[in-house]
Amino acid sequence: MSGIYCKDAMSPSMKHIPYARQWIDRRDEDEVIGALRSDFLTQGTRVGEFERAVASYCDARYAVAVNSGTSALHIAARASGLGARDEGITSPITFVASANCLLYCGARPVFADIETETGCVDPAAVSDAVTSRTRAIIPVHYAGLPCDMKELSKIAKRKKIIIIEDACHALGAVYRNSKIGSCRYSDMTVFSFHPVKHITTGEGGMVLTNDKKLYERLLILRSHGITKDPALMRQRHGPWYYEMIDLGHNYRITDLQCALGMSQLRRSFRFLERRRMIAKTYSKLLSGCAGIELPEEPAERRSAWHLYCVRTRGGSAVRKRLVEHLHRRGIGAQVHYIPVYWQPYYRKLGYKRGICPRAEAFYGQEISLPLYPLLRDKDVRYVADSVISFFDRIGRERCA
Ligand SMILES: *Cc1c(COP(=O)(O)O)cnc(C)c1O
Repeated sequence: MSGIYCKDAMSPSMKHIPYARQWIDRRDEDEVIGALRSDFLTQGTRVGEFERAVASYCDARYAVAVNSGTSALHIAARASGLGARDEGITSPITFVASANCLLYCGARPVFADIETETGCVDPAAVSDAVTSRTRAIIPVHYAGLPCDMKELSKIAKRKKIIIIEDACHALGAVYRNSKIGSCRYSDMTVFSFHPVKHITTGEGGMVLTNDKKLYERLLILRSHGITKDPALMRQRHGPWYYEMIDLGHNYRITDLQCALGMSQLRRSFRFLERRRMIAKTYSKLLSGCAGIELPEEPAERRSAWHLYCVRTRGGSAVRKRLVEHLHRRGIGAQVHYIPVYWQPYYRKLGYKRGICPRAEAFYGQEISLPLYPLLRDKDVRYVADSVISFFDRIGRERCA
């Protein structure tokens, strides 16, 4: 590393600050090595330990760990009983997995527009999108900020609709004094442990719930639809016997991954604190920058700060130039997200542009600045300075 980063060799274009990255330390390494040397690389005791630890961290009763956030969304949708002719409502400003889990079940994703200020789905738009076929709502806590869960749960309760929170951005977020993951306003909550998220297991995910029936279905769906529970089986031939009672998957996570997850979870408060601190610093440094709108936390909604999202006031041409400017300076700015229904696959399914105008406008303005616990203070200043210098230059162009 020192060869690449030595001062003399460094030109601005060689600096590289990614938009997100993991933080692995010696304790993480030791835990994984410990698991490697144990009897079970998968289906050992570490999976249950990790599940209990995350459930306890979030104040939920049950947790089922799987091999990705996407798998977690899939079995959550399956456990909800979603099938052909059912509809599920979600946000277009999310990763494709939030909607794909509905397609996997043969159900139809319906996209509801967002609140521009937060990037979260707008409860009024969700309410308008409800039909007699709606069976699930999948709100996405965009950038780590909780959705307006109270309003969403009111809509769901009226119509007996299941809520699956896509909390892949939101481990550690708090909504009205309840932790995201507690399922206080939902049936299930899904997390991802991809390296860009709050804690990582390499790949991994989890579903949390307080409902025992859902929990049992999730366990079966995680592992081929197979059970050894006498209460669920039709017969019992002997101690070797098991039954496949549903069409499940192999979505199991390994003990190696859960060893890493346990170790990461122990430091999650520090991770979260650092993320909050960086967000606060960005907001302070950029508060005078007239070219952009900064993210805010509405009352009773505390973000876990997965992303620091700004919106350019000048529209998509300015946004594109700003991203290019930051990339030239070695800053890995990203855009979250291309509206899901703009994807060619969704176009092929018949989704048209214009369904969610606010989401489409949001996509044209959004930029995510680098944000991760290992980001140094001087890098935060460098990123903020780079944003400010861009708008200074634009201002001079206008005056010239
Ligand atoms: C990361 C992410 C997922 C998918 O998680 P994976 O672990 O990558 O499968 C789903 N939804 C959102 C909002 C995400 O950010």
